[in-house]
Amino acid sequence: MAAKAPVHSEQYPQSYYVDTAKEIYSHPQLEGEVSVDVCIVGGGFSGINTAIELRERGLSVVLLESKRIGWGASGRNGGELIRGIGHDPAQFINEIGSEGVAAIEQMGFEAVDIVRNRIQTHSIDCDLQMGYCDLAVKARHLDELSVEYEHLKKLGYKHDVKLLAKSKIGEVIASDCYQGALMDMGSGHLHPLNLVLGEARVARELGVQIFEYSGADKIIKGAKPKVITAKGEVSCQYLVLTGNAYIGHKLNPYLGGKVLPAGSYLLATEPLTPEQCAEIIPKNMAFADMRIALDYFHLSADRRLLFGGLCTYSGKDPKDIEAALRPNLEKVFPQLKGIKIDYQWGGMIGIGANRMPQIGRLPDADNIFFAQAYAGHGVNATHMAAKLLAEAICKQAGHFDVFAKIKHMTFPGGPTFRSPMLAAGMLYHRFKDLF
Ligand SMILES: Cc1cc2nc3c(=O)[nH]c(=O)nc-3n(C[C@H](O)[C@H](O)[C@H](O)COP(=O)(O)OP(=O)(O)OC[C@H]3O[C@@H](n4cnc5c(N)ncnc54)[C@H](O)[C@@H]3O)c2cc1C
Repeated sequence: MAAKAPVHSEQYPQSYYVDTAKEIYSHPQLEGEVSVDVCIVGGGFSGINTAIELRERGLSVVLLESKRIGWGASGRNGGELIRGIGHDPAQFINEIGSEGVAAIEQMGFEAVDIVRNRIQTHSIDCDLQMGYCDLAVKARHLDELSVEYEHLKKLGYKHDVKLLAKSKIGEVIASDCYQGALMDMGSGHLHPLNLVLGEARVARELGVQIFEYSGADKIIKGAKPKVITAKGEVSCQYLVLTGNAYIGHKLNPYLGGKVLPAGSYLLATEPLTPEQCAEIIPKNMAFADMRIALDYFHLSADRRLLFGGLCTYSGKDPKDIEAALRPNLEKVFPQLKGIKIDYQWGGMIGIGANRMPQIGRLPDADNIFFAQAYAGHGVNATHMAAKLLAEAICKQAGHFDVFAKIKHMTFPGGPTFRSPMLAAGMLYHRFKDLF
């Protein structure tokens, strides 16, 4: 049984989120043998929500996490809950047809509803605040925003969306950096660690057995797959792998080769005054600009500016995150020049070559499922992936096959050389962002 425990902040990477976490529980380590309908590997949004969806459909579930619940990207991210799944679903029309493209577009809206419903139904205290803007840095971004605006209208997007010209942008943000914006009241921001911890509480209450410090070291495929951990093993009818950017190469080289970990980083300032907040972000919205190596930011519930950005492929964190990110923050908000930074942290985003989440079954084991590679846009998409995985396992009609049909390239170069190769590729795209 999970016991309520004090906050073990030393077991999580230090961050603003850990210091303001509300529902950290300590779960036991797996010891001995367990047999269950479904074993899930990974205790982030993907794993925890798949566990919830499966228990709600009556299956018995064990979840194995190698560190703590929410230790990965789910407990460290920018907390921006943004409509849409993947990048430009229309590029896959040959693989999934126009119905498939339309289904992904609608799922991109539904994914946000799943998160909002889960928060509301289970009273998860995670500072949800609606309101978000895409920010145009270049003139060509404005054209892209107009196209997106018309597209949203055509798809019947039910939330308030508005194009803001440069002259009107002061309504939402006090910064001279932007040419215009697309405001969306159906997207927003939240405290991601509190969301995943609240969802873990829901999973526990439904009867999911959660084990921490119980990393899956080995998988034995077969009619009843087995997962071996340091002190135990789980045998199951179905296995779901959701280790995402943290899965590594060893556990399953097929999955490891298709997801590239990319570092992204955040700063949390000291609390601002109510007047400063009202000046810089008067409607308390979340923001992201439209470059490849983008800035993303919003205010926290206790009035800090949470400012994220950078993009590294070396697997190493910058020596001084504040020194690397502060110039970006002060460029966007020169009013905050010299502001004290109370927290700095980062995490690994799982990137796939085509920037569409990878949701499917292993080619050599149709009882082993996976979901990964949300490319920095996973707060909503993980929740949709969880629903699709549960539907597929329970053989309910759903859109799982739309994703399973999309082909995903393996990064060339193996674990050693693929990062430098991708870094070179990304540099090219960043270079293009200059114009
Ligand atoms: C800094 C940062 C900022 C981001 N900002 C945003 C944002 O603002 N909006 C947005 O939509 N998305 C954002 N993202 C992306 C988003 O956080 C992720 O897409 C999402 O959290 C992925 O969830 P997940 O459960 O798939 O993976 P994770 O949360 O990474 O969870 C994977 C878990 O699996 C565990 N694990 C790995 N291997 C094993 C094993 N062998 N055995 C057991 N456990 C294992 C890991 O310890 C980890 O806890 C950001 C990501 C980062 C890193």
